[in-house]
Amino acid sequence: MNSPTIIDGKEASGRLKTAIAASVSALKAKYNVVPGLATVLVGEDPASQVYVRSKQKTATAAGMNSFQHDLPASTSQADLLALVRKLNADPSVNGILVQLPLPKHIDQFAIINAIAPAKDVDGLHPESAGRLLAGGDSLVSCTPMGCIMLITDVAPNIAGKHAVVLGRSILVGKPVSLLLLNENCTVTMAHSKTVDLPALCRSADILVAAVGKAEMVKGDWIKPGAIVIDVGINRLPTPDGKGKLIGDVDYAAASKVAGAITPVPGGVGPMTIACLMVNTLKAACRQHAITDVAIPLRLPSRS
Ligand code: NDP
Repeated sequence: MNSPTIIDGKEASGRLKTAIAASVSALKAKYNVVPGLATVLVGEDPASQVYVRSKQKTATAAGMNSFQHDLPASTSQADLLALVRKLNADPSVNGILVQLPLPKHIDQFAIINAIAPAKDVDGLHPESAGRLLAGGDSLVSCTPMGCIMLITDVAPNIAGKHAVVLGRSILVGKPVSLLLLNENCTVTMAHSKTVDLPALCRSADILVAAVGKAEMVKGDWIKPGAIVIDVGINRLPTPDGKGKLIGDVDYAAASKVAGAITPVPGGVGPMTIACLMVNTLKAACRQHAITDVAIPLRLPSRS
């Protein structure tokens, strides 16, 4: 009977947050610098409200300053751009996160492109994406960074492994693929037009699913011993109306074959916010030209 390593994102993000808090404390003690994260929420989408509050709470718990801007859904694009420019110019703000999605009347790309690349802690600005592509040092989007940390935590050296990434979005699929390439994996990016997905997945030593289709990846798509990272978050309706979160991978079947696997919820999800704190710390250090404060790029080992 196969017993895979269950990759516990909550435990892992706890380790990461402890390391971040230690670095924030060192930054404050040595340089009197406190990283500041500005979060901007437009409208009252309940899920977005939960995400933003959680980001603020995590920033504060790590010893950072958190500046929240709640704007009504009717906010114009011009007013939102004006706020972004104000935050760009504010030296107490090191990172700017505009919670997505934005209301339909606002061009999301115009807003992302207006964020100063040095403060782009979501890693979505074209300059951040371009730097990642060029192999330079960049603020990497948070979910992909979390995926790589989880993978390298269970397999520190993945050079030469075949990694298959399902999904090619700018938010997840493309940056995950580039990060895996930077780790010297041989990467195949798959998408909705890929032919014979099951066979391709069966050749993967590392499989990252970021599709948004509940349990699309079946147990017999998994190579025995593979590392399976399930990014998908799909909400299935339940009689009590609360809904149930499930991933893109059929977890029960895949865990009978995989060597290591993330559950949903409790896998990739908790890492995303912790990685936002990594980026905020990194942005603060860069803006102050500080190079001797540790920025965790890997998960700290279990003590
Ligand atoms: P997108 O909808 O932007 O992209 C989905 C990708 O999956 C596309 O590239 C699409 O291909 C591909 N795809 C769709 N159907 C198939 C199929 N049948 N076979 C193969 N590929 C397919 O989604 P995101 O990348 O933004 O998000 C993916 C999932 O990750 C979602 O469930 C989202 O909720 C979750 N997510 C989780 C986060 C976390 O913190 N855990 C953070 C961000 C996202 P094509 O390009 O050809 O259309």
